[in-house]
Amino acid sequence: MLVRRFLFSHGFRYRIHAKTLPGTPDIALVGLRTCIFINGCFWHGHQGCSMYTVPKSNVEFWTHKIKRNQARDHESLLALKAQGWHTIEIWECQLLPKQRLKTLQGLLRTLNLIQLENSGATFTYHFDEEETFPSIAAESED
Ligand SMILES: [Zn+2]
Repeated sequence: MLVRRFLFSHGFRYRIHAKTLPGTPDIALVGLRTCIFINGCFWHGHQGCSMYTVPKSNVEFWTHKIKRNQARDHESLLALKAQGWHTIEIWECQLLPKQRLKTLQGLLRTLNLIQLENSGATFTYHFDEEETFPSIAAESED
């Protein structure tokens, strides 16, 4: 919701929970051919994140369930990329108040780059298909 409001206020228009796309992306910016997934750190198994800790009971059940979610996420991203979509993943922990501004600014920057790329502008930045959103956010220290 936070991300949606932010995008809307910056003039982006999108579809939500687009069931016709692999993985039912939370936000699909059709014009930019970009999908945004907002992942809960627990359910999607955010590696190295303090919000992802497997409960002490039923360890096998949870581990299996989360592994399955991760596999499904991975497949959705690959399927979208194969169809020419850009994909951006945002983690729940990146939207906590301390991280939020940096995350949203990084998102905006990423979308601007995609916009430029899609417009066919000659442009030295090569959008790395493997690059996921967190690595971009990590660079926005300025
Ligand atoms: Zn996290």
